[in-house]
Amino acid sequence: MEFSQYDTDALLYITNRPPLVFTEGQGMWLTDHTGKRYLDYLQGWAVNCLGHSPQCVQDALTAQAKKLINPSPAFYNEPMVSLASALTANSCFDRVFFANSGAEANESAIKLARKWGQKTPNEKGESRHEIITFDHSFHGRTLATMSASGKPGWDKIFAPQVSGFHKADLNDIATVENLITDRTVAVMLEPVQGEGGVIPASREFMQALRKLTKERKLLLIVDEVQSGMGRTGELFAYQLSGIEPDIMTLGKGIGGGVPLSAMLCKEEVACFEPGDQGGTYNGNPLMTAVGGAVLKALLEPGFLPGVREKGDYLRGELLKLTDRFGLAGERGKGLLRALKLGRAIGPQIVELARDMEPVGLLLNSPRPDLLRFMPALNVSTEEIDQMIAMLAEVLEKVEKQG
Ligand SMILES: *Cc1c(COP(=O)(O)O)cnc(C)c1O
Repeated sequence: MEFSQYDTDALLYITNRPPLVFTEGQGMWLTDHTGKRYLDYLQGWAVNCLGHSPQCVQDALTAQAKKLINPSPAFYNEPMVSLASALTANSCFDRVFFANSGAEANESAIKLARKWGQKTPNEKGESRHEIITFDHSFHGRTLATMSASGKPGWDKIFAPQVSGFHKADLNDIATVENLITDRTVAVMLEPVQGEGGVIPASREFMQALRKLTKERKLLLIVDEVQSGMGRTGELFAYQLSGIEPDIMTLGKGIGGGVPLSAMLCKEEVACFEPGDQGGTYNGNPLMTAVGGAVLKALLEPGFLPGVREKGDYLRGELLKLTDRFGLAGERGKGLLRALKLGRAIGPQIVELARDMEPVGLLLNSPRPDLLRFMPALNVSTEEIDQMIAMLAEVLEKVEKQG
């Protein structure tokens, strides 16, 4: 079919999409409506941790679809219970609430923190509800999570914001301390800021934050929607800094491509009462069955060490590109990495890479001077080499164009 034959105008305009319609995906590769193939370093936005349409996800979906799709969230079901216990067994948390998107998991964490702040009032007997978040952070697109986010301009677009979120600077503990009032209940951060440009919180900062929040009786919430589920080479990024948060949210990778998210918390914080939180699809067996299969794959012996190896390899190759083209370096953890371009050529590179023939390359530029890489966690070194070779070709073109 020709692109013009698709009625794309039937979709509400929300973003500029290229004139392509994707029809198939397998591993690191996507195919469009003309049959052209693309090496995909977006993977549904760091969602497909095992690549496109992995066998274990196909199998879990088909097997569960034949058995039970939705008995309602008012009842237990097997995949819901077994995924929750696998998550608590492999983390420092005791309780799990499932939802459908990262924003919803974060919304849930915010609600839980506010509830806990009502149960643990300040010295004047007032409930606490303020949450300290960070500049350039991203927590989702609901009103509360947009208000929590530190994306430039987001304080205005759907004003008024949900109140009670104050922004500190990542890796600067004094800015956090300065924002604490007798109404503060929690500090919430991404252990690696993803949309903000792949900026890791340092180990020292995470440890200082844990110490400060303990001293001031505040909750520490980690948004691991992007950094969790093996992305950094540990199952969860908080493990990189040797601390235990009170609440963690997961999304993206947990479903291996299907809509699934989770909020996990420690027993001491688990203060929801019936009616406080819910959702029609929470813990539905179709999605949690997939989550169970994905987690099992990530926990296979050698899988996470493989992510660390491939992350190191990608880092080395990005540093070679940096030297060769006089770029500004790289940063990241595991297989969440960024190449610093030193100038605003990101969008141009994204377009040129996509339009390469006979195969294209899909890249992301979260900031004009940066490229972000979020391959499948089982990407091969050959697929890294191929991407680097294609990117080098594009960088040569950009250099020639001046
Ligand atoms: C993507 C993302 C979200 C939002 O997840 P959705 O599933 O799009 O709602 C929240 N936090 C972080 C860190 C993310 O990367």
